[in-house]
Parts: sequence; C-alpha cells; structure tokens
Amino acid sequence: MKAKIAVLAGDGVGREIVPEAVKVLRAVAQRFGHTFEFSAGDIGGHAIDKVGVPLPQATLSLAKESDAVLLGAVGGPKWEGLDYSLRPERALLGLREELGLFANLRPAKLYPMLADASTLKRDVIEGIDLLVVRELIGGIYFGKPKGIEKTPTGERGINTEVYTTEEIRRIATVAFDAARKRKRKVASIDKANVLESSELWRRVVIEAHKNYSDVELTHMYVDNCAMQLVRNPKQFDVIVTTNMFGDILSDEAAMLTGSIGMLPSASIGARVGMYEPIHGSAPDIAGRNIANPIATIASAAMMLSYSFHLDKEAEAIERAILHTLEQGYRTKDIQSPGCQLMGTVEMGEAILKSLNQN
Ligand code: NAD
Repeated sequence: MKAKIAVLAGDGVGREIVPEAVKVLRAVAQRFGHTFEFSAGDIGGHAIDKVGVPLPQATLSLAKESDAVLLGAVGGPKWEGLDYSLRPERALLGLREELGLFANLRPAKLYPMLADASTLKRDVIEGIDLLVVRELIGGIYFGKPKGIEKTPTGERGINTEVYTTEEIRRIATVAFDAARKRKRKVASIDKANVLESSELWRRVVIEAHKNYSDVELTHMYVDNCAMQLVRNPKQFDVIVTTNMFGDILSDEAAMLTGSIGMLPSASIGARVGMYEPIHGSAPDIAGRNIANPIATIASAAMMLSYSFHLDKEAEAIERAILHTLEQGYRTKDIQSPGCQLMGTVEMGEAILKSLNQN
C-alpha cells in the first residue's frame, strides 16, 4: 500500500525519538513492500520560534492531507511564560479538534522482563494487557458554560459536563470494535449514581452494545475503577470512559506497567489518525541520547494497525521490541542490573536489527 505520513517531531526528546520510529517504519515498508512517504512539519515550541504560533497553518494542512500523523512531543521551559493561547501544548488541542480525533486509545501492557520496574507486586501486574479508550473532544473540558465569574462575595468557577447521544455512541463503538480484536470484554466507566450525563452515558452504551452481542459489557463507577486498577488490573480488557475520567484512569493504568518511556497512544476518529508516545518533551533529558524511543516506535505500530489495517506489520514491530528487551537491552529509564545500557539511537538500531532478523 501507499501512505503519506506527517512527521511532527516537536520539541525536546521528540526530536530524538521520532527519527528512530521513522527508521522502523521505513524498514517495515521495505520488508513488506509498502510505500510510506514522510513529510516533516513544525509544531510546538519549534514552530513558535520559527513563525510565532504553535500550530502553523502549513502544519495543519500537512496533517489534513496526510493519511496519518506521527507526533513526538511539545513544550519546554523556554515557552512556559507565554500566554496560554500561544503555548506549545495548544497545538495538540488544535490538531485533535481539527482532525476530529474523538477517541484516544492507550494500551497498557506489561513486558514480563520489566515487571520489577513497576511499583506494584509482580503477581498483581504480571499479565496486564488492557486498553483505555478515552473520549477526547467532549465532556467537561469543552462543555459550556465555563469560566470564572465574580459574585457578591468573591468568585465562582464553572465547568459543565455535556455529552450527546451521538458522542457517546461513537466512542462506545470504537471500544466495542477494539474489543473484537482483543479479549472481547468492555468495562464502561461512569458515575451514573450521581451524574445525569453519566446516566445517559450508561444508557447509550447499553444501546450501542446491542450490535455487539459477542462482546461482554460491564459497568463500573469511576471511583471503584480507580481502586480496581490497583487491586486487580488483570480483570480489565477494554475500558471505555469520558474525557476527564479517561484522563485520570489512563495515566493510572499506564503507570502500572513501569516507565512512561514505554507507552504509546493513538488518537482516532475521522480519516487521519494521530500517533504519539504518552510522555512529554522531557526537557530534563533532551539532547543527551538517553530518551527511550520505544513508546514512539510502539505508537508507529499502532498507526500501522489502526490507520492502515496492517496488523501483520504492526505485530512485527511489537515482536521486535519484545525481542530487543529479551536480549537484555535497556535505556536508562528501564535499566536493571545485568542488562546492557543503550542510548536512544542504539535502542532504535537494536529494534531495527531485530525487525530485520525476525
Ligand atoms: P514528561 O513526560 O516530559 O517527563 C516526565 C518524566 O518522564 C521526566 O523525568 C522525563 O525525563 C521522563 N521521560 C519522559 N519521556 C521519557 C522517555 N522517552 N524516556 C525516558 N524518560 C522519559 O512530562 P513533564 O516533565 O511534566 O513535561 C515536560 C514538557 O512536556 C512540558 O512542557 C509539558 O507541557 C509537555 N508535555 C507534552 C505532552 C505532549 O506533547 N503530548 C504531554 C505531556 C507533557
């Protein structure tokens, strides 16, 4: 197949890890007979320095004209003093909105050889393989009215949780479809005992489930889910939830498995999907060839699977990552005694070698 991929490395470690993922995608294209065309665009702090805005029109057009976007990370201390509307992170919200990326998918899978990197006991986390499906462009982060207003005695801050039937149905459908590629279990997380928006959420999820009788559906209140993720995370396959609950639960789920440098994500919804590591620009380690590129390389694998339906190719990348870790190669964030420490580029090359050999 032929595909156009927009490459937005961004800031900090983004500029080091994205090239490693691109190398892996090039190798996949060569091995499996595909043509991937890569075009680089400016985003975040780098774009601010060049043209004064975090998401230039040229970058947005590039993303829209591509078949998928590979993103590094944006932000850093240099741009922290800027007005909120001009901060590098605004570029992410802009891209999500403009590309209609309403579903954020974050897998949390434990690589057995990294079990000791988790803060939880081995027997609790061994075998974790779950996927959080978070609604990304609705709910309390976008609902109106919002703002801070004066009152006779001080001020009042307001945000509004709003979900429509259609918004709930489409995210539930993404979750049920994803479950069909996995263990066919979906847990829908809400707060239906307190919130009317959650009451509707639960009703619409049950309705959407009627087309997926082969998938098991359960419901759980968000406070219980937060607890269950630490108590017995292996019970989950796919978790589907709102924007705010998903923001919190996906970080919790991700950290069960160890380093932030290992965790990929996909944002999908319309024609163009966006794929990025869950971590930020890591200014504390940027430019030193020590960042872990695995989260970004695994995000590239998600791109192949979700945007291009190239499951065999995605699995080849995942196997190469696993094989590289099995050989005892580690970046600094996942280092353990007896393992061989590598830099960003060397880890990328080890995965590439493994991809070509297996
Ligand atoms: P961060 O994720 O950048 O870093 C948190 C910690 O994890 C740091 O100690 C860092 O060194 C480590 N880390 C992150 N990625 C790593 C990797 N690949 N390998 C090894 N270690 C890694 O979060 P932060 O420090 O809170 O934020 C830094 C900047 O990134 C801020 O400007 C923030 O706004 C931005 N940010 C951007 C995104 C994004 O682009 N999607 C997400 C989160 C934060």
